[in-house]
Amino acid sequence: MAKIWVDCDEVLSETIDEILKRWVFKWKNIKKTDINSYFLRDVKKLNITKEIGIEQFFWFFASDDFFKTKPVKWALKKLKELKKQWHKLYVVTARAEQFKDKTIERVNIHFPWIFSGFLFMNQFKQNEVSKSKLCKDLWIEILIDDSVNNLKDINSAWIPWILLDKPWNRGVEDWELLKRVDSRDDVDISYFIK
Ligand SMILES: [Mg+2]
Repeated sequence: MAKIWVDCDEVLSETIDEILKRWVFKWKNIKKTDINSYFLRDVKKLNITKEIGIEQFFWFFASDDFFKTKPVKWALKKLKELKKQWHKLYVVTARAEQFKDKTIERVNIHFPWIFSGFLFMNQFKQNEVSKSKLCKDLWIEILIDDSVNNLKDINSAWIPWILLDKPWNRGVEDWELLKRVDSRDDVDISYFIK
């Protein structure tokens, strides 16, 4: 039995697809492949400040459009397999705690009886907690994630990582504790846990 961290945005929830429907992205004709970083200030074609980039996420999570977000297609089947193998699954997300209730509600609708707990990093807030600290507090043994914003933090904590291939994490190379996968069938924790 392993304790597994499952990220929320882009691993369980197709968040970027929905955010791209907001006016600023449509106005600038931004496609998913243009999102080379989850820090929107780094998306060249978008050309927005750090503050506006952060606001895009906060506005979206606070809006009713949040409820239109679709689940990632492959996720439920894979998570059920992991659950059947007696692994304990936790949702650990960069989202702020102010969106806790709606996040838990949506995840439980799409992925019922899968998760043993929810943790929030509060990214961009004063009480932000690092991924490695959350992992250590919960004794997480393996991550399934797409974001490489905290790559150094996780690597220095020696936590194995299955990285889902996305436009914003190209360029990150596999190493002993990081395995990049690009499809559901490749999400195999036996890379790290026998
Ligand atoms: Mg994510």
